[in-house]
Amino acid sequence: MDLTQRPPYDSVDFKALTKKDPDFKTLWQKCSGKLDFQDSETIKTLSRTILRADFGLQIDVPDDRLCPPIPNRWNYVSWIQGLIDSTSPNYSNTYDPEREVTGLDIGTGASAIYTMLCLQSRPSWTMCATDVDKKSFESAARNLALNNFMTRAKLFQSTELNPLIPLQALGVDRLDFTICNPPFFTNASDMTDSLKGEGKSWKPNAVCTGAEVEMICEGGDLGFVTKIVNESLVLKEKVRWYTSMLGKLESAKSIIVLLKKHGVTNWAVGVIDTGSSTKRWVVAWSFGDLRPRNSIARLETIANEYLPFPTVYNIHLPSTITPAAAKDVINTHLLSLDLNWNWDEQSSSGIGEASQNVWSRAYRRAYERSKKENPGVSAGKDTRAIELAFRIRVIDLASEVELHWLRGRDQVLWESFCGLIHRHFKKSG
Ligand code: SAH
Repeated sequence: MDLTQRPPYDSVDFKALTKKDPDFKTLWQKCSGKLDFQDSETIKTLSRTILRADFGLQIDVPDDRLCPPIPNRWNYVSWIQGLIDSTSPNYSNTYDPEREVTGLDIGTGASAIYTMLCLQSRPSWTMCATDVDKKSFESAARNLALNNFMTRAKLFQSTELNPLIPLQALGVDRLDFTICNPPFFTNASDMTDSLKGEGKSWKPNAVCTGAEVEMICEGGDLGFVTKIVNESLVLKEKVRWYTSMLGKLESAKSIIVLLKKHGVTNWAVGVIDTGSSTKRWVVAWSFGDLRPRNSIARLETIANEYLPFPTVYNIHLPSTITPAAAKDVINTHLLSLDLNWNWDEQSSSGIGEASQNVWSRAYRRAYERSKKENPGVSAGKDTRAIELAFRIRVIDLASEVELHWLRGRDQVLWESFCGLIHRHFKKSG
């Protein structure tokens, strides 16, 4: 079972689960294949079964605490994996077992579900986890011990007075990401109204949706995540990616508006959709300059004003230019510029890093002049700060050139670079 890149769920195959798990088979036969999602034992058995069958994990959650639906939780973890992988400092865009990654699970709950899914799927990751509720905290610790995760997890029982990201109390200087499923509701009636679930096919009941301490906080999900935003404005790059789930699309939009108001330009928005009637939303933001891939950052179904600037730019080659010729043009051009450029023939792609707009006419003139005046002086290792990093891939079959924005804060610089490459491949005549 390779979990390092396990895909998200788009549905759950109950029939297949009956073959994998005898407890679930018994339940399935008892209800003749009609699972009662109103029944807490059904929900619990389902969660336990999926965890065991798909992840090799065990959980034990007290009756009066939230028993998490696993597909929903996994899809969020899977999105985080994509976010982290596509913003690796070495631009690998895939799981790198050598890379140490530390996350913080804010409000881990009685199941410690995110912490467990992260640790189980990524052997090189470590996790911190907090909760303010004593009963949940103790249960989280038991679950981590049950699955032998104690050496890779750091637990901290927090209080309302602490920050949501208590770096000092956790004894860590920096984090790669935070993950959080906040209390969604502002008060008890907000919670019961929403959970009555009129018109919904999946009506969760009190047992599987959690105790009030888990579900309610001032301002609901928006209030909780606004607190995370405010902390992030102080912690800045101490955390590479701040993320949270939100209960409603409107809340996700409000958070994005707030981030934009504070000048954040590097964010990502996604949907958690496991095929049930309940959709959730996830938002991530960063003060760093590594840019996540489009498929993670841009949820095409929501309005453009809530989406970050695209990090991919496609150029379709005119029929007069073959992919092989395009590769030559790209390499010749990039090698003539004052930037780092490494082409890999096998993957038909190259990675470049530029310290500024080195393709402007003025810059190129000065560069040419200095090369003439100091012939033979090799640049040596380029120690200048990188303002733009990109990947260029030539896709033979599609006759396409694909540009990826990997690093940089300056959208104008990226756009200018895309225009530069595009100009080579405009239809002639
Ligand atoms: N992560 C679990 C639980 C989510 S419920 C899951 O996804 O199933 C929200 C959790 O946040 C509850 O366990 C609640 O006790 C916790 N919580 C509420 N306020 C908190 C705070 N200030 N700091 C840390 N955890 C908090």
